[in-house]
Amino acid sequence: MLENLSPQPADKILALMAAYRADPRDDKVDLGVGVYKDATGNTPVMRAVKEAERRILADQSTKAYTGLAGDPAFGAAMRDLVLGDSVAADRVAAVATPGGTGAIRQALELIKMAAPDATVWLSNPTWPNHPSIIKYLGMKMAEYRYFDNETRGIDYTGLIADLDQVQPGDVVLLHGCCHNPTGANLRADQMAEIIALMQKKGAVPFVDIAYQGFGDGLDADAQITRQIAAAFDNCLIAASCSKNFGIYRERTGVLMAIAKDPEQQALSQQTLQFLNRQNYSFPPDHGARVVTTILTDPVLRADWEAELEETRNGMLALRQQLADELRRLTNSDRFDFLAHHRGMFSRLGTTPQMVEKIRAEHGIYMVGDSRMNIAGLNENTVPILAKAIVAAGV
Ligand code: PMP
Repeated sequence: MLENLSPQPADKILALMAAYRADPRDDKVDLGVGVYKDATGNTPVMRAVKEAERRILADQSTKAYTGLAGDPAFGAAMRDLVLGDSVAADRVAAVATPGGTGAIRQALELIKMAAPDATVWLSNPTWPNHPSIIKYLGMKMAEYRYFDNETRGIDYTGLIADLDQVQPGDVVLLHGCCHNPTGANLRADQMAEIIALMQKKGAVPFVDIAYQGFGDGLDADAQITRQIAAAFDNCLIAASCSKNFGIYRERTGVLMAIAKDPEQQALSQQTLQFLNRQNYSFPPDHGARVVTTILTDPVLRADWEAELEETRNGMLALRQQLADELRRLTNSDRFDFLAHHRGMFSRLGTTPQMVEKIRAEHGIYMVGDSRMNIAGLNENTVPILAKAIVAAGV
């Protein structure tokens, strides 16, 4: 049997991580993998997470199974965090999933079940796991233009022209905030136009929100998701807790299906639980319990929000420093987009050859499509990166 296997495509980012580890240079800089790092290069356990874990360790009296949806309190807490009061609670079906990836996978399984002929539209570019899972599930997909390589902002004209081709029942996947890999994001007024277009076309939106709190703040980052939730009878939302709670390895996420009425909500809830059962039965609980403990305790929540704000502001300061440094070195505003982008990533908008040159000559590792993890920088490495970008002639 196993002789029939053929090698699967390697994950480019994991390969880059391995190359970074093998690089003997002392002054190498890792801007590859999408993990938040503080100024010392550490990915810390957040204070509120430590405290929630301490309480769970002290108080938890059983490790028996939860339910197929996970702990309903987690679903409710995440519904409030992501959706606020944009939609009535009795229209939201929610299940815990293993990370945001699990939520995306389950959402796609649901789409395959309910609308097998639907095409799933993805931004070009997008997080590579999106097309990879869609392809694996044998679903139809198409791309809409998103990033303008000249301005390093949104190709809005191209985006609208492409979404105008969407057919009734097609699914449009949008990043809720902090677009991965580009860092370029839609404004609320642009989103309002896109919503009107999707409504006209009869499309179903699917929002992937993996960085709430990393861009402009917890509520501001949820705005697109809430605009969509308020405007459609049906939509899907996959949310990850990996980044904003710093619990990457605990695999904590939620899939929400917004239904048109409570009756459809009940059917959706039952179906999501069925899908969990088919794939892994009960979703992981520890990370979800940590998140629920934090979100439902006012003191812990305030501390989490404060630490998340520090994280967010730290990344904004690095963006500004890098843009300022490049302004100084080039005597131009060509790189100001770095300060306008939001989230952990920015796409520099250069060629793979240039990315390789920067890696070879300066030991700075970014992904081949020129995605940089801004959190991989610190005050001291920003000038090194700026100099390398200019020296390479980007
Ligand atoms: N969506 C996007 C756009 C992401 O960048 C990520 C993390 N890299 C995820 C979803 C899911 O992350 P996780 O499964 O680790 O929660």
